[in-house]
Amino acid sequence: MKILKFGGTSVGSAERMQGVANLINNDERKIVVLSAMSGTTNNLVKITEFLYSQKKDSANNLIDLLEENYNKVIKELYSRQELLQEGKELIESHFNYIRSFTQDIFTIHEEKAILAQGELISTALFHIYLKEQNIKSELLPALNFMRIDTNGEPDNYYIKENIERELDKFPDINLFITQGYICRNLYGEVDNLKRGGSDYSASLIGAAINAEEIQIWTDISGFHNNDPRYVSNTHSIPQLSFDEAAELAYFGAKILHPSSIQPAKMANIPVRLKNTLKPDDKGTLISGKAEGEGIKAVAAKDPITSIKIKSGRMLLVYGFLRKVFEVFERYKTSIDMITTSEVAVSVTIDDTTYLNDIVEELKQYGIVETSSDQTIICIVGENIIEQRGFIDKIFDALKHFNIKMISYGGSRHNISILVDSADKKDALISLNEIF
Ligand code: ADP
Ligand code: ASP
Ligand code: MG
Repeated sequence: MKILKFGGTSVGSAERMQGVANLINNDERKIVVLSAMSGTTNNLVKITEFLYSQKKDSANNLIDLLEENYNKVIKELYSRQELLQEGKELIESHFNYIRSFTQDIFTIHEEKAILAQGELISTALFHIYLKEQNIKSELLPALNFMRIDTNGEPDNYYIKENIERELDKFPDINLFITQGYICRNLYGEVDNLKRGGSDYSASLIGAAINAEEIQIWTDISGFHNNDPRYVSNTHSIPQLSFDEAAELAYFGAKILHPSSIQPAKMANIPVRLKNTLKPDDKGTLISGKAEGEGIKAVAAKDPITSIKIKSGRMLLVYGFLRKVFEVFERYKTSIDMITTSEVAVSVTIDDTTYLNDIVEELKQYGIVETSSDQTIICIVGENIIEQRGFIDKIFDALKHFNIKMISYGGSRHNISILVDSADKKDALISLNEIF
């Protein structure tokens, strides 16, 4: 069985959905994971923001607009009258559901329920289209098997048990459609795997059923050696190891959700990145193999905040770092980079929800300074830290920028550098020119 995930642009119009149906119409047994149509989740986020701030008219206007757009999509998507009617009723019921939240006080659980509508709609519309094309398929509701625990981490045992049970109901079906991104939490409420989470869904499902391959279909022909949003002349990389890809995804390569490589790596399932618009392009294969030497790719992650704790007492005091890290642990805030000296330790975080509390607690251990608007630039390649002269090249490329922190030697294949976000684009371009 293969898992094929199609992102927002890949299902972003009636024509694109029809394209996806062509791509998946063969005898291979597969689960197709879909994102919401492009732009939908952003609009749903806006609707929830309007509702939080009691701007009910703005929320209703946007709901109407979005519904109108979906009604246009189905007119292009279906040709049979009864299926057009089915599509219309489906859209109406989802939008009436969203509208129902404009009546009362708005809560976090309702926000998650609204955000889930994008994937629920795209999969249902696609399923109806397959029906029109006489392509036999089953819609698997992700809310029946995808679940996170109290820490927001996937409950792998639950996912495996429940997706297997769902699949066992249809032994004669070769094509399953399900929603990316959405899940339930420990209390059974609708939740999600954070923005861009459909990649993560695909990988979790792949690992749960021990799939042969996980394919991530998007709008670019695989993993590029630098961020194509900021740098021109980037090119696609044919092969990456799980560790290299995980590092790049975690440190900002938007093509993959930050956590999406981990489940595939644990289950040793290859991940293939493909372009929906150019399906014959090779794309990128991510597997357990590490090939080639030297730099493979650069990614950038922000907004990052750095926190420096200066303490004259740190010298020769064991247990100091433990105390510092425990503060972050108490606030469930993960640290990305660390550098130390005898009198100070600097760390970076991306989740600033509890920044003020963290800083207050850290003050008992020394003088605390924070800097916001920072960017981590992550340089990845097999064995790069063992190559003589490699770091010289990096410093040379970055000589005109203010380097704030460096993390070198944490793993064989990653060097991370902290710069001001204002320097991000030029630093990425400069690194691209040097390598
Ligand atoms: P989808 O909606 O299919 O999930 P995303 O927008 O999340 O697609 O991810 C694809 C986009 O990621 C590309 O269009 C590209 O702009 C961006 N991107 C950022 N870094 C990279 C990279 N290193 N390689 C390829 N794409 C990247
Ligand atoms: N629709 C969700 C988002 O836009 C999930 C995804 O596309 O992966 O974040
Ligand atoms: Mg994405």
